[in-house]
Amino acid sequence: MYEQLVQPIIGMGYKECCWSTVRTEVIMNLKMDLHTHTLASGHAYSTLEENIRAAKERGLQYYGISDHAVGMPGAAHTFYFMNMRIIPREIHGMKVLRGVEANIVNYQGQIDMVPESLRFIDYVIASAHIPCLKPGTVDEHMSAYIGAMENPKVNIIGHPDDTRYPVDYEQLALAAKKNNVMLEVNNTSLNPNGFRVNARENIINMLKMCKKHEVDIILGSDAHISPLVGEFGYAMEILTEMDFPEELVINCYPEKFLELIGFTK
Ligand SMILES: [Zn+2]
Ligand SMILES: [Zn+2]
Repeated sequence: MYEQLVQPIIGMGYKECCWSTVRTEVIMNLKMDLHTHTLASGHAYSTLEENIRAAKERGLQYYGISDHAVGMPGAAHTFYFMNMRIIPREIHGMKVLRGVEANIVNYQGQIDMVPESLRFIDYVIASAHIPCLKPGTVDEHMSAYIGAMENPKVNIIGHPDDTRYPVDYEQLALAAKKNNVMLEVNNTSLNPNGFRVNARENIINMLKMCKKHEVDIILGSDAHISPLVGEFGYAMEILTEMDFPEELVINCYPEKFLELIGFTK
């Protein structure tokens, strides 16, 4: 009774056909992907231009570039981020945001981006990665994430679903709300062939807490190659199963995100 023929849904990449039959109350108009990598990350395979064309094919309105910051082996030099101001605001009709996926480097939540390199960057994703942060206790991970959230430059916590960094999801959701930071549902973490084991269970627990406390979330493809830009299929399956409220999914409300990051250009 909930099903009817609907328009194709941006981000429902797991549906290969143009017309999908889905539950109408979970239709979401996902307009942006802010977690993507280019060749500059050192272990990704597409150019900025290829990613933008892929985002356009997906029907997105906003594409965000978020290469790994300097602490990740093989990542770009600080100058790469300092020069991001030359990236046009619109390329091939796609609105482009300049971001970075910074590494959380200690349990105080410091990130590996100096203020000069953040000057021309619109938004920051802060993530825990094995080469940059040693796994510790739940308290230490909470301190690291909360410390990062308290940094006014940080807007998103990337893939807080990693079993190697266990956390208290209720406290994490409350801290995100308090600091106006979004928790990411990372589509790559949910890939059954991925390396983040138990990500699905962790994401479900996180989303339960975000729903309970009305905390904004953001879907990120974490694409390391252009065909995966804007791919949110695994994430959407979970949101659908949970009847997660669209009002809390920031990808549907780019204006709200732009306001949050103080975007005025
Ligand atoms: Zn990451
Ligand atoms: Zn990433």
